[in-house]
Amino acid sequence: MNTKLIPPITASFFQACHYCFKHYSAANPLSRCANCMHVVYCGKACQIADWPVHKEFCRAYRAVERPCGAEILRLYSFVPVDPVTGVVTNSRELAGCLGEVATVILQNLEEELERQPRRDERYLVAWEPRCLACGHSEATFRMQGKRVDVLPCRDCGLSFYCSSEHWDAVKDTHQKSPCQDGRNNLSQCSMNKLSFHDVRFAQVIENENVGEFEWAPERTMTSWSSIQLINWSDFSNHLSLDYSYCSKMDREFLKALIRASSENLSMPMTILWGLEVLNTDAAWTRKHVLNIHVLGAAEKELSKSHVFEEILHRVPLVKTLKLTFIGPDLEQLTGSHPSVIPIDTCDQCSCTGRKIIHEFQPKAYHQYITDQGINFRNPDLAVAFNSVCSREHVVSWTTTYHALCHRRIPSIFTAYNREEALAEAFLFKGVGIVSHGNLAPKPNPWGSLISKIEPNGVVGFYANNAWISGAFR
Ligand SMILES: [Zn+2]
Ligand SMILES: [Zn+2]
Ligand SMILES: [Zn+2]
Ligand SMILES: [Zn+2]
Ligand SMILES: [Zn+2]
Repeated sequence: MNTKLIPPITASFFQACHYCFKHYSAANPLSRCANCMHVVYCGKACQIADWPVHKEFCRAYRAVERPCGAEILRLYSFVPVDPVTGVVTNSRELAGCLGEVATVILQNLEEELERQPRRDERYLVAWEPRCLACGHSEATFRMQGKRVDVLPCRDCGLSFYCSSEHWDAVKDTHQKSPCQDGRNNLSQCSMNKLSFHDVRFAQVIENENVGEFEWAPERTMTSWSSIQLINWSDFSNHLSLDYSYCSKMDREFLKALIRASSENLSMPMTILWGLEVLNTDAAWTRKHVLNIHVLGAAEKELSKSHVFEEILHRVPLVKTLKLTFIGPDLEQLTGSHPSVIPIDTCDQCSCTGRKIIHEFQPKAYHQYITDQGINFRNPDLAVAFNSVCSREHVVSWTTTYHALCHRRIPSIFTAYNREEALAEAFLFKGVGIVSHGNLAPKPNPWGSLISKIEPNGVVGFYANNAWISGAFR
């Protein structure tokens, strides 16, 4: 396997070769690994080439089906279904069940493998094809002693059904109704097709994984102008100029480029949006130094950190952009001691003496505030991207947003989807935080346009910074 890339999600859904990632077509048929039945290849050559990496997992995945079977079927038995058709009547209960099923499988795989499953292996569990109507997979049918083919929707290839009856029960909703966590009222089928597009695009443009595409315009605006009445298409002109060498520059390609760019540009644009909506005037655009605290910072914020230059490019009067990345996860990335580094900027910025400074503080934000003591100054904005603060490190996060509220620090929290945003907003409310001007919980106008299919489910999408869960000061 290509060591840099992990197979795209389309490979988990049997739409791409697990080794060379080439997608299914009439000219490129794919066939299943006959032992585990969980991966497909475009031919013998790829299967043989992948075998040294796949064989351990292949044996383990097949082996866990038997001992897990009873427990998994028991979990399914609690999901309410129509007694005649077997169609699930409560999709939330099914989502909960599938999450638990995945946990059982992963635990057993870990025991079988005597190591943690790798990321690509976990993907095969998370995005296993499951019937939209009943939530069953070929594996759970095997556990019942049945042999059933779970087939893909002919249109999108990324949603599945186990029988024509079950397809009839769900196809209208799948193809025509606005779906959960979709965009622009698109159906699940249309959203799936966009996801497929994004995977193919990532492969075409730079042989990358979805979400790795890095682009930010190299231009400085002559003056600050509001970003409340514009949207991602504002980047179109620059994109088409920068990629004018691409022969395939049609409308669809441009749209795919914009979606891919939004994945990382979502961070600086959300910061600018937060600064704009939480300030009553534009004094912040004329500051000598703009101070941003990035809370719960981790790999994503650090590896794509050059996109933050877009902030400088939109507020030309600011001389220095100081980004302080704060979060316990930083320790693995930057070491256990705080550090400060100046960042290279574009020619125009460096010629005019404009600077970007990054500081790393590998600790929780409330701890950082305490450690700074009397030296602590409120930043112009504190932002937490996809903090999942309602699910992970809840106690630590609660202490942090108490501190944010107490010190009246202008703050923005983002979430992956609606459900998470509502859960976070509920927690904020619980500690007396009132979102400013009814700004949250709401979809983030500068959330990433790359929507990804939810793992361990049959419906739903998530995207980076898709929702604003909190906006307060
Ligand atoms: Zn192949
Ligand atoms: Zn196999
Ligand atoms: Zn079914
Ligand atoms: Zn479809
Ligand atoms: Zn610059």
